[in-house]
Amino acid sequence: MENKELGFSWLPEKLHEECGVFGISDADGHDCANIAYYALYALQHRGQQSCGIAVNDSGNIVCTKDMGLVNEVFNEKILSHLKGQMAVGHVNYSKYSKASAGYRESIQPMVRKYKKGTLTIANNGSLINAAQLRDMFESEGAVFHGTSDAEVIAHVIAKERISSASVEEAVKKMMKIIKGAYSMIVMSPQKMIGCRDPYGIRPLALGKLGNSYLLASETCAFDAIGAEFIRELDPGEMVVIYNNEVTSIRDNVTDNRGICVFEYMYFARPDSIIEGTSVYEARKNAGKVLAQEHPVEADLVFGVPDSGLCAAIGYSEESGIPYGYGLIKNRYIGRTFIQPTQSERQNLVKIKLNVLADAVKGKRVVMVDDSIVRGTTIRDIVRLLKEAGALEVHVRISSPPFKWPCYFGTDVPSKENLIACQMELDDIAKAIEADSLGYLSIEGIKKLLPGRTGGYCQGCFTGEYPIPVPTQNEKDERRIYTHER
Ligand code: SF4
Repeated sequence: MENKELGFSWLPEKLHEECGVFGISDADGHDCANIAYYALYALQHRGQQSCGIAVNDSGNIVCTKDMGLVNEVFNEKILSHLKGQMAVGHVNYSKYSKASAGYRESIQPMVRKYKKGTLTIANNGSLINAAQLRDMFESEGAVFHGTSDAEVIAHVIAKERISSASVEEAVKKMMKIIKGAYSMIVMSPQKMIGCRDPYGIRPLALGKLGNSYLLASETCAFDAIGAEFIRELDPGEMVVIYNNEVTSIRDNVTDNRGICVFEYMYFARPDSIIEGTSVYEARKNAGKVLAQEHPVEADLVFGVPDSGLCAAIGYSEESGIPYGYGLIKNRYIGRTFIQPTQSERQNLVKIKLNVLADAVKGKRVVMVDDSIVRGTTIRDIVRLLKEAGALEVHVRISSPPFKWPCYFGTDVPSKENLIACQMELDDIAKAIEADSLGYLSIEGIKKLLPGRTGGYCQGCFTGEYPIPVPTQNEKDERRIYTHER
């Protein structure tokens, strides 16, 4: 997985999710742009490539957005120009560089003027019928500026709004037309609307700050600004925030549940709550299940920071093996980091992570991480641990092996780049030079979320998705019509 834009092509082992969204409809005289800034800061883990904030001052929308992290795109001066009674923010990850055609135009929030005023859209997720919808609009003469699904969604709402009495009616109709994963905030001149796809694949929560209502991808955004978490939107639910009141519209609500299980394992912050379950608890449970499924005699358990820490605590609690530190992470590697040359490749992992030699020397260690993509980074870490004197290194992974693509907004590499598609378990263990390797089982996923009755998406592990996914032809079309144009 390359992200040369960020100078991270040497850190190929992580999957990416596309976005985080935030919205505030103010009733107290808050500085909406400032609040959106801090909330986006808390959601930065959901997307680091671009971000934006659109403010609505009595129907007049001003939007600032650009490539970069939240604290790179915004400063006090920029925020001081963003005044209004509502604000919508977005952070985005994209595997496409700013050189890709239409990339810059695809940064959200997406602001579009149309016959009934101005629409602002911030979306998290990915549609499976975006290519067909785009084709339909282009056949009718529509012109698209960028490549994002949000622009397609804007066209659908604008079209439906013509025959609808209100913007919420148009959004309701849109929810019958678009297919796939979406957790979105739509801002009209007077209203803020939040909606979640009928399977609820991506999270979306409702909060309150004083008398002002908020929407956010994750509850950690509410904590960051001192707001109260009220509840999550149900799959298929739409909430309309207008005149300081929230109206729930449930025409598209069903009993279906398809939350992305990888939100719990990987994407979301551990201090967030998703569908009633603490992400921290889910990760700790994954570690406990791993300890039951793949026990080993060892002297120390530690996690790869930060992704493996919570599961390592669970593994330790269940196994009784002491928990400690084995690796220290350099927290200050950012976008401006100069990409090392190929000849420096062997030092790359050392730049990011250092082994605590005193802690691992002479010990049998269990190292827990959340995933393996290509296997190169984890192999380098195992080597470093052995060089530092670890007697045995047992690798435990708190998710099942990735084998299938995601159609709902996660950038999973092609099969050639997924080690689990290329090798059997024993061969992977040899390839990463571990003394043993254990992944969480598919059955084990259920135990992450005890008491949960509804379903969830685990498609990238099983190839079975909560909604029918595109055929190869449709996938080709999507490629043609979206990012790879
Ligand atoms: S396919 Fe995997 S990453 Fe995509 S939504 Fe489903 S569980 Fe999440």
